[in-house]
Amino acid sequence: MKTMLIKNARNIITMDRERRQYPGASMYIEGQEIKAIGSNLPYETADTVIDARDKIIFPGLINTHHHLYQTFTRNIPAAQDCELFDWLLTLYDIWKHLRPEDVYVSAMVGLGELLKSGCTTASDHFYVFPNGVSGELIDEEIRAASELGIRFFPTRGSMSLGRSKGGLPPDEVVQTDEAILRDTRRVIETYHDSSKFSMVRVGVAPCSPFSVSRDLLRESAALARSYQVRMHTHLAETKDEEDFCVETYGMRPLQLMEETNWIGNDVWYAHGIWFNDEEIIKMGNCGCGVAHCPSSNMKLSSGTFPILKMLENGVKVGLGVDGSASNDASSMLLELKVMNLLHKLQHGSTALSAEDCLYVATRGSAKVLGWEDSIGSLEVGKAADLFMIDSKRLEFAGALFDDASLPIITGTAQVDMTIVGGKVVVKDGRLVNVEEERLAESAQLAANRMVELANVHSSKKKKSTASRFLK
Ligand code: ZN
Repeated sequence: MKTMLIKNARNIITMDRERRQYPGASMYIEGQEIKAIGSNLPYETADTVIDARDKIIFPGLINTHHHLYQTFTRNIPAAQDCELFDWLLTLYDIWKHLRPEDVYVSAMVGLGELLKSGCTTASDHFYVFPNGVSGELIDEEIRAASELGIRFFPTRGSMSLGRSKGGLPPDEVVQTDEAILRDTRRVIETYHDSSKFSMVRVGVAPCSPFSVSRDLLRESAALARSYQVRMHTHLAETKDEEDFCVETYGMRPLQLMEETNWIGNDVWYAHGIWFNDEEIIKMGNCGCGVAHCPSSNMKLSSGTFPILKMLENGVKVGLGVDGSASNDASSMLLELKVMNLLHKLQHGSTALSAEDCLYVATRGSAKVLGWEDSIGSLEVGKAADLFMIDSKRLEFAGALFDDASLPIITGTAQVDMTIVGGKVVVKDGRLVNVEEERLAESAQLAANRMVELANVHSSKKKKSTASRFLK
């Protein structure tokens, strides 16, 4: 088993229960596991010794919601100034051209950016399976994660309610319930590993109330529970979604979830903005989790996540960057800064500190994914998943007064080193297992192809209200 000593760090921010910090300390790792944290550790003969002088070490960030394939539809002019439903209607037309190789390359880009921003475990919600595309799409992103060395939680998404049946997506990107359930079973049986330091855990994830049928929700829940895997879906993201549920089913989104067995401590929702007080209490009592995605919610004008009410009522809250088309980045560190500022504006200056945000993106996210026994903090017995920042960087000069808050308050987007399960995957701010320039070039070419096929031109860009005055 490979051993590693990371020695003499400026500080180790553990985010353990007491939020302990270890200035000047070292960490010893065997295989994936942290074996010791402290000063003067006697492991100088470890296989790898990393001098961490001037470095601040943090627990790896955990992303609880993403759509990696959307990395190819960032900064599309026609989708920049829309709310969710119009935004989706614009982008479905591009996404229907997705091929297996696009899924692989877009995942390499998105996961690469996550690693470079301190993320060590990423969840993904993959739900676009265009008709006529052969190949096993979700397998391609699992392959990308394995090549990059990130801990991965792919969820097999689905859409079954096409436009002809009253849903929002075009019929070309929906599948039958039967095909969805068959492939979901295959993905779980092929990839799901529930062991403590597993590199791949799989979840089941119908897309949203307006893109899947009630029957599929019910059957997906039964399937997930028969394999004891976790369940994930978008919920209470917009008022439009709430109106859709009331008009179509005569019930609010959470009632629809209750009615289809989509509530419980094995379920986490993405967004969760439009729940009322009674629903938040119910979610807390049931042990539900929520992936909070502040940038996406701000960009699509969806609303503000009621984080204090959620935490007060025991709802598990983690952080997510959401899909790249509504972010338009995959930087967990940037997301932390946005989260911190959003809640200061919305809930007051003392509502949530930078360190509280760090908690949400580490321990909080680990609880949302049901993985808190292995990841989310730096403690003996947990995985050596961490990132380091160099306190000597120019953007930190004059700011070295609170190590735990430093990258969040200053808003740095990138780390110097990332380690996942005791393996270095980002070194000197660069991905270790990939040639970044070549990847970026092939990604942009593939994205061009999809956008050109969809014929989405910049002329469709909406005129802003302000543009009338900015002559
Ligand atoms: Zn999403």
